[in-house]
Parts: sequence; C-alpha cells; structure tokens
Amino acid sequence: MNKNTISLGRIFGIPLNVDSSWFLIFALLSWMLASNYYPREFPGWPLWQYWFMGMFTSIFLFVSVLLHELGHSLVARHFHLPVQRITLFVFGGIAQIAGEPPSARAEFWIALAGPIVSFALAALFHLITPLVQGWDALFAFFKYLAFINLILAGFNLIPGFPLDGGRIFRSILWGITKNLRKATFIAANVGRFFAFAFIFLGAMQIIAGHIMDGLWTIFIGLFLESAASSQIQQQEMRTLLVRHKVNEAMNPNFAIVPADSSLQEIVDHHVLGMGRRAVIVVDDGEIAGMLTLHHLKSVSPDKWPQVRVAEVMLPASQMRWVTPDTDLWSALQAMDRDGVNQLPVLQDGKLVGIITRGDLISFLNYLHSLST
Ligand SMILES: [Zn+2]
Repeated sequence: MNKNTISLGRIFGIPLNVDSSWFLIFALLSWMLASNYYPREFPGWPLWQYWFMGMFTSIFLFVSVLLHELGHSLVARHFHLPVQRITLFVFGGIAQIAGEPPSARAEFWIALAGPIVSFALAALFHLITPLVQGWDALFAFFKYLAFINLILAGFNLIPGFPLDGGRIFRSILWGITKNLRKATFIAANVGRFFAFAFIFLGAMQIIAGHIMDGLWTIFIGLFLESAASSQIQQQEMRTLLVRHKVNEAMNPNFAIVPADSSLQEIVDHHVLGMGRRAVIVVDDGEIAGMLTLHHLKSVSPDKWPQVRVAEVMLPASQMRWVTPDTDLWSALQAMDRDGVNQLPVLQDGKLVGIITRGDLISFLNYLHSLST
C-alpha cells in the first residue's frame, strides 16, 4: 500500500483510501469558498461562518466524488469485475477495477455510471435549492453542490481516454471495430488531443493575466497527457504479451515443500538461501497450496519455528493457476485480479513451473533488448 494514502475503512465492502494530495485540495477549496464564493453571495456573515461553510461544502464535494466512484464500482461488480479500492486524490477519485472489462457493453455501462450519478446529484441539489430559499447558508450550499456536480459530470464526459467520456468513446469504437487495441489507440490519442488543448488554453489564460487559473488548467492538461500516454504504453505491452506464452517466461526451477514444514525451515532453506518468493506446498503427493513472502510476513518472526506451512498458506482450493500455453497477458490479468505476484503453472494437473511478476518484467526487458 502506498504510504501517501490514508485508509477510511470500507464502503459496500470496498476499501476507501484518501491520498494525502487530497488534503491540499480540501484546504485550497475551503479557502476559496470561505474567502471568495460565500462572501460574494452573502456579504455580512461573521468570518467563522464563511470558514465553517467552506469546509462543510468541501466535505460534501468529497462525498459527491465518492458517490461518482461508487457508481462505477457497483456497475463493475454487476459485471463480475472485482473492485480493489476507491482512492480519492488531487483530481477527484479513482475506482481501481481489476482486469479489463469483459465486453464493450460492460465498459460502456461502467464508464457511464459515474457521470450519471453526478448528473443525478446535480439535479437533486438543484431541486432542493428553492425549498431552502430564505436560509442563506443552506441555499448557497445546495446551489454550489448542484454546480460542482454538474462540472464533475461534464469534465468526466470529455471524450478522451482514460476519462469516463473517453472510456465510453472507446467502448463504442470497440463495439464497432471489434478490436480493443485499435479502439484504445484512437481513444487515447483523442485524450492526448484534449490534454494539449487544456495546456494551450492554460497558456492563453496566463497571457491574459489569469495566472493561477492558467497554471491550474495546464496542470490538468499535463495530468491528462500522462494518463493517456500510459494507456498507450500499456496497450503496447499487452500487444507484446499476448503473442507470448507462459512457458517462455516461467521458472521451471520451483521448490516443493511438505505441508508440515515450519515457516523457519522455509525461510532458512528457500527464502534466504535461494532468494525464492514463493514455494509450492505438497501433502501426500498432491498440491496442497502455495506459500509466499506475503504469508510469511503475516506471522511474527519469533513464531516461525512453531507455525506449520499448512496453517498460513493459500490452500489449493483458492489457488488460481495457468498452463504453459496461457498467453502472458492473461497470466498478468489473473495476477491482478487476485492481487498476487506469482502463479503456479500446471500441465495435465502436474506442476511444471511457477511464473512471477518479476519473470514477466525480465521477459519484457528481454523482448525489448532484442528489438533495439
Ligand atoms: Zn468517473
């Protein structure tokens, strides 16, 4: 877990994190609302009330972003895609959905769900405003939230990948061309076009004397550019990996340990001696499970001599595996889905090797060095 994020528990079972950059935005937005928006709309309040409303409104912006991400997450779940976590950061939020959407239709609905939630919130807050007419603070609060949710929906619908609008655009291209690679390439380049448009617009604002606004627009442009470029790179990596099979990159030199070994024995003979990050556990000649560094770390070192491997390993019933013919991209996707760093390789029920993220990266480097 990134040390810059703070955990806020779970919502619908999905871990919710806040990136430390979000606190900067919280402070900046509270300050802007307290010193600009509220005094302009309602002069004559005491200073504490401006600050109270500023912070109160910022918290509800946070809730609005969270509901937007929850929209994506719950629809993703409906399509059986696991959601690893929701993280709120400087530009809003991100729902980390493991694996690629299974179909163009799934991607379309998952991407559309977020802006639909934001539009619905904007409409709801807009409908509330006339009801609280006369209560200045509440009126201004709902008016602002209606506005900000409309901005949230509108900005996210810009048709440049990886924004929601770009995902919707990609899903439509994907549906028409039946070619995810081509669809991603086009949508991400449209994303880069919008990114450069933002940077250009920011430069214009600076020339016109609006320096802070201009810098902010450029910042958004740079962020979009790097997000779109990394999607193109990821797509290229995918294209490279789907052409190769697990047996080209796996390590046939795996270790098998009996289920009743102690954790200390594993550390002494396999981790320290051989630098292994995972061992396969067997019981009565059958694969019983897999033990990784992650499992080792879950037990305090002074208990290693007493604890048996079988007590902490990942049991075979929960273990996913690949075959030597699985393509490397599917293997990587399987690791992402389960949040693991290695998978056993089985052929006709017999263990023939183990493949790790490290093996995949060195294989990519090897392919790269061949092509340059
Ligand atoms: Zn979204």
